[in-house]
Amino acid sequence: MNVRNITLLGHKDHGKSTLIGNFLILTNSVSQARIREAEKYSKILHKDFEPAFMLDSFHEERMEGLTMDITRAEIAYKDVAFSFIDVPGHEELIKNMISGASYASTAMLLVSAQKDEGIRDQTKRHLFIAKMLGIDHLVVAVNKMDSVGYKREQFESIKKELMVFIKRIGFADKNVSFVPVSAYKGDNLVKKSARTPWYKGKALLDLLYDRSGEEERSSGGPLRMIVQGLIGAKEKLVVGRIAKGSIRLGERISIVPEGISAKVVGIAVKGKKVKSASVGENIALALDKKVGEDIRGSVISDRGRAPETKSTIRALIFVAKGLGKNLNIKFNGLDIPCKGMKVLKYVDVTTGESSKTGKFEPLNAISAELRLGTKIPAESFSQTRELGRFVLYSGKEFAGMGVVE
Ligand code: GDP
Repeated sequence: MNVRNITLLGHKDHGKSTLIGNFLILTNSVSQARIREAEKYSKILHKDFEPAFMLDSFHEERMEGLTMDITRAEIAYKDVAFSFIDVPGHEELIKNMISGASYASTAMLLVSAQKDEGIRDQTKRHLFIAKMLGIDHLVVAVNKMDSVGYKREQFESIKKELMVFIKRIGFADKNVSFVPVSAYKGDNLVKKSARTPWYKGKALLDLLYDRSGEEERSSGGPLRMIVQGLIGAKEKLVVGRIAKGSIRLGERISIVPEGISAKVVGIAVKGKKVKSASVGENIALALDKKVGEDIRGSVISDRGRAPETKSTIRALIFVAKGLGKNLNIKFNGLDIPCKGMKVLKYVDVTTGESSKTGKFEPLNAISAELRLGTKIPAESFSQTRELGRFVLYSGKEFAGMGVVE
């Protein structure tokens, strides 16, 4: 089944677990036994039925009334399976999006319409980070509409305020939808609700279905295979993942930064010999030339179309913590020392506004020029995601993330 990854964003307590719990129930993605278990725990905790326990019931912490750290829930709908990835904070969000395993380009944001909740700075910060890392389709569910009497004004005012920010950080109007929901009561989750007759759009799950279908991965353009290392005792094979383009048996390739050129004499995918492979696949390559052991992080391209290697890069950087002296970047598995940084612009991630003058503040962004200790095969993020993003460390401590401009 076609799996579509959806990154889940939203402030704690705005109803993410409740929403996913009800999705699981309403789409029959979960067994009756699990539902009964959630009912049982709701009773033990003297609560009305809490759909959120559908998720929490995976974990022991439930009994203390705690929620877990990271959640992944699969929901079957029509011909697809949505895989919702929930992350508690910006660090997990960044690590999850950069790990490469998920190629989500759609996010669902939950904002509570309840009087004391609404749009928070943290919500905007997460949206900013998600956009930086390649999310370009967004569905905003304005939740807890039941607590404001399903009033249209409440929905419209959240939509209006958020839309200004969303557009400023670069989302296209046509890629963003808003829907009023009650995660708890189930309104507009899978079916349209009679309680919001003023809402003319589709139910949440249908919006997600429409949006997430537009995910694209280009098998055209120059080949970019990111090398993970060598395997095999006698005959060494180069293993890695194709980030872009495709590769064929007999083709001539280049490896940077080594500057080696070679011919492809064998390709294997999951242990089976194949004649060609393309974007998204993990492959093993036999080459007609020996390569050094120290090849992790190198890039294989079709000959003559290798990415440039550079020791100075310009990047938009989200600064999570103060950047200490011992700064380095992790780029495709490599640790590269950062020798210097020149700030070009300061960006406020809660408004999306930028200025040439400002203060260096954690939890905000900067546009900067980085001077690196070695040359790396970097490209702009918009060209090749995998060659245009990195994580920043101050010593061993996570300090932020950047995308090459
Ligand atoms: P999370 O931290 O975002 O996962 O939030 P939860 O799903 O745990 O919900 C936080 C609280 O908000 C719980 O007490 C839920 O019962 C409540 N809640 C969630 N959705 C709704 C809703 O649609 N309406 C109302 N009135 N309460 C909700």
